[in-house]
Amino acid sequence: ILAWYTNNKRKLPWRETSDPYHIVVSEMMLQQTQVDRVVPKYHAFLARFPTLQALAAARAADVIDAWAGLGYNRRALYLHRFAQEVVGTFGGIVPSEVDSLQGLPGIGPYTSRAILCFGFGKDVPVVDINIKRIYSRLFFRGEGTENGLLNVAREMVPVGEGVAWNNALMDFGSLVCMDKPRCDLCPLRVQCSAFVAGVPDK
Ligand code: SF4
Repeated sequence: ILAWYTNNKRKLPWRETSDPYHIVVSEMMLQQTQVDRVVPKYHAFLARFPTLQALAAARAADVIDAWAGLGYNRRALYLHRFAQEVVGTFGGIVPSEVDSLQGLPGIGPYTSRAILCFGFGKDVPVVDINIKRIYSRLFFRGEGTENGLLNVAREMVPVGEGVAWNNALMDFGSLVCMDKPRCDLCPLRVQCSAFVAGVPDK
């Protein structure tokens, strides 16, 4: 997967930073919006609110205005409240512990892991629907329980390479092991339980 990623990685602006604030903005935007629509809004949002403190001090109406075009405005309000709570409770420093993160507005298990990985370089699994699909096909013939998939995801993260690993899986799930998988392009065919069982698109 890491070798595949070296040759196929997507160039995305939030991959060029490890600033936790920038990571939170990108993750909130990506929750329900396609990557190509997020890229210009991400740049514009950070130009308007360059720091967590600037966002915390903004009026909610201005934050929603900057969010226009992304939809699901509730995310903008969560992000605004997130900034206010980090400034008010954590001195403006995004916390790096999962419990503290998950107590903040709009931050669930997925987003907290994404912040820990991409914002703090921790080797934690970032498990979205695409990554679950990959593990499910590789190890469980397209099945597998939520817990089983999470356990595999935890075991698989290579020490010291969590950021590359999670980004690689996201790209692999978007470009190769998609809903309709492109197994002809896949370097994992001989290891993939779903492919070997003849049910790769399960
Ligand atoms: Fe996905 Fe097909 Fe590769 Fe299996 S062989 S991991 S189903 S792309």
